[in-house]
Amino acid sequence: MKASYSPAPDRYGRPDFYRRCGRAGLKLPAVSLGLWHNFGGPDVTENARALIHRAFDLGITHFDLANNYGPPPGSAEENFGRILGRDLAPYRDELVISTKAGFHMWEGPYGEWGSRKYLLASLDQSLRRLNIDYVDIFYSHRFDPDTPIDETMGALAQAVRSGKALYAGLSNYGPSETAQALEILRSLGVSCLIHQPRYSLFDRRIEAGLLDVLGAAGVGCIAFSPLAQGLLTDKYLNGIPPGSRASANTDSLRPEHVTRERADQARRLGELAQARGQSLAQFALAWALRHPQMTSVVIGASSPGQIKENVAALEHASFTEDELRAIDAIVSR
Ligand code: NDP
Repeated sequence: MKASYSPAPDRYGRPDFYRRCGRAGLKLPAVSLGLWHNFGGPDVTENARALIHRAFDLGITHFDLANNYGPPPGSAEENFGRILGRDLAPYRDELVISTKAGFHMWEGPYGEWGSRKYLLASLDQSLRRLNIDYVDIFYSHRFDPDTPIDETMGALAQAVRSGKALYAGLSNYGPSETAQALEILRSLGVSCLIHQPRYSLFDRRIEAGLLDVLGAAGVGCIAFSPLAQGLLTDKYLNGIPPGSRASANTDSLRPEHVTRERADQARRLGELAQARGQSLAQFALAWALRHPQMTSVVIGASSPGQIKENVAALEHASFTEDELRAIDAIVSR
């Protein structure tokens, strides 16, 4: 195992890489790194360490986790905690670490959804696995239709008041649920920092309401799966390569998601990307970041090279009206 790590001295060389999260004081890097895939298992791999190092060297200060990331659930937090303790502990104040609770985590009636009991117990567990005193952002990972929304928001507010989280976030809430949640949090004296929805060229649902709700409220937005788990790269243009996520037999990207229609759309988008001098991945990320409300995109990566390529999306981030029209003709809203 590599003995020691010193971050790149020029990692903050591009100040415009950091974008304000809605109206909050906090800024996030335009590209953040998520640990849903490639960080699970019984111990830290050299690749996991290399991914974190490369990200931080490139100025990525935000690392996104959830209680259940693995497999097994919880192991991504444990592994990140080990990497943090070993390599990044002196830089804790340069990092924004998020985690979430909402999906199934432990047996019995208190191990998922949105009760106060589950959220606060889960946050304590996450802090133990990460081996830190606080996370920067704590999310309700999904809306719970069977728990009063006041109870779920009350738990988020309590997490912030206790100092175990600096900010509160929502993920996978629809526009009206979001508006209600923002109002309740405000009444509790805790504003919502950010929403984390799925958004990419292949899933544009948030354009139909959520972005407007967030814009009006001054709440930030961080898009997850902005590359549609790899479908918006050149990876699947000619089938499913070995070693890719779709080949890995998980529930997240199954072989049947890699359809001929998606591959055709990706190929056509790739031609537009090429005309701009970008890879398809860079083009897809720049496109997701074009909204003023979009603070960051949270990407996944299986190699350090992918992170480097993806961060370079910012080198050509604006789109002409003609380009946007050509995109809309390929992937309708
Ligand atoms: P992406 O859409 O960015 O997909 C990442 C995958 O795309 C990589 O693992 C890799 O696949 C491939 N890839 C990335 N860059 C390149 C490149 N330059 N060239 C070729 N292939 C590339 O995001 P994820 O789906 O991984 O999600 C990102 C994060 O979002 C998660 O880690 C998590 O933090 C968050 N998330 C949140 C959810 C929520 O409910 N709030 C749900 C899902 C994700 P390969 O491994 O095949 O190389």
